[in-house]
Amino acid sequence: MRPDLRTQQRDFMLEITRAITAQLDLGEVLRRVLHASLVMLAGRVGIVALNDKRDGKYNVRAYSGLSQEDVPQLNIKLQELMAPADEGGISREFLNQKLREMADAVDPRLVQSIAMPLVFARNPLGLLIVFRSYQTAITSEDLNTLQSFADQAAIAVNNAQLYGELNKEHQRLEAIVNSSGDGVFILNPNLRFQQANLAFERMTGWSKYDVVDMPVADVIVWDHAPGQDIEAALEAGWAGANETEPGATTHYVEGDLVRRDGMTLSIGITYAPLFAEDDQLESIIANVRDITNFRKAQEMQSVFISSVHHELRTPIAIIKGYASTLGRDDVEWESDVVREKMTIIEDEADRLTALVEDLLTASKIQAARELRLNPADTDLSAVAARSVARLRSQSVHRIELSFPENFPVIQGDAARLRQVIDNLLTNAIKYSPDEKTITVGGRFSEKHVTVFVRDEGAGIAKDQIDKIFERFYRIDDKLTQRAQGTGLGLFLAKAIVEEHGGEISVKSQPGAGSTFFFTIPRD
Ligand code: ADP
Repeated sequence: MRPDLRTQQRDFMLEITRAITAQLDLGEVLRRVLHASLVMLAGRVGIVALNDKRDGKYNVRAYSGLSQEDVPQLNIKLQELMAPADEGGISREFLNQKLREMADAVDPRLVQSIAMPLVFARNPLGLLIVFRSYQTAITSEDLNTLQSFADQAAIAVNNAQLYGELNKEHQRLEAIVNSSGDGVFILNPNLRFQQANLAFERMTGWSKYDVVDMPVADVIVWDHAPGQDIEAALEAGWAGANETEPGATTHYVEGDLVRRDGMTLSIGITYAPLFAEDDQLESIIANVRDITNFRKAQEMQSVFISSVHHELRTPIAIIKGYASTLGRDDVEWESDVVREKMTIIEDEADRLTALVEDLLTASKIQAARELRLNPADTDLSAVAARSVARLRSQSVHRIELSFPENFPVIQGDAARLRQVIDNLLTNAIKYSPDEKTITVGGRFSEKHVTVFVRDEGAGIAKDQIDKIFERFYRIDDKLTQRAQGTGLGLFLAKAIVEEHGGEISVKSQPGAGSTFFFTIPRD
């Protein structure tokens, strides 16, 4: 090569390399590559076509010496040219023929063409083609020159693709973080906020823009000491250089957060460190979860366990007390005293049986999420009468039955429905004063039978009506505190009635009593 040409080629290469390192737009870099190729090879027209990864098709991305209108037909020719690339490759004749067709389509004066693939790490990224308007020998110098420019173009294309993928990945992560139902925030190693998401805003009341650069301790303020907070954990060596096991490095803090508006919220935060390549802490990613419901469930469960404990202990103590009194051999008991005490023992044993039955039913519902029924012909008025007869003996209330004579028989599980009536009736007894009347009755229509239990007790406030059917739920007032219970009765009643295809509801006037209804379809 002539020395002046060699200098020119070197200058072009320098310029292209600078354009790549300055991260200029890919189109601009490719235009410079084309310009250099055309000048060095004395070409008239040039194109750079790139392989679109999504469909594998080649399209013109930069051109020189032709007009925009020529591009669509060149794209068609390019696709024809590259079609056999996957199946056995492209023959020299086929290549020459297609290049000639391209040249003819653009300008009939173009008589010679040189094509060079853009390849990076064996990946075909595109083609660089130079068309000449005169016929001359294509020298190995021509090819080497074009090859060096094609290599530069390939580097630029590869960089742009990597950058595009990185950007897409970044956007995908942003979308995941922002749409997450959990709060997410990122801290720098000095424990200042870098970023937070929408759920974090909702939980803490802090805007994700306001927190940027704020120290974590100014935003995450605890109402009561939550064990080891993140500052203390870092000081104690958490996420230090000696921690290599990835799973072991998260740090969990749980407690009541004071929100920006002063209200509190039960949350749990999991901190995970992110290390740079040199093992230095780069950032800390935190995941915030609202654990209010979990806490409430835990509290309800522990109240439930202590209620069950009490509920079991009371009848057992009574039974044991009466049995040992009757068993004393130094006393001769009158027969009616014996009968009275035996009745009490029997009643308490019944209470125990009912409680155990309720517990069993509840655990079955929880395990299988449904209840198996043994349906048979069931007369609910008779079931109610038996339930009333048993509970009358244990209570001082007036308990009345009010069923029409021809109350229809339905298909149902008599033992389970007895559980429902027992629970409603026990509640009516527990939650109304001694001198009041309780009525258990029934109505029916063509399609349904309805059983109701009416009391003249304290009633239930409107906002509590939906909640009383929840598992373990007990109204937090004096009346409920006085009466023993597990909060399971209405939950079970609802489950059993619904398993029969029916519905349970309550009408109540606080101060004037409540009426619970349940309806079962007749067929
Ligand atoms: P338990 O009676 O064991 O507490 P239930 O599930 O049977 O549990 O009832 C839930 C709550 O509903 C009770 O704690 C009580 O506060 C309220 N409740 C139920 N029945 C009545 C009623 N007849 N009158 C007033 N309050 C009632």
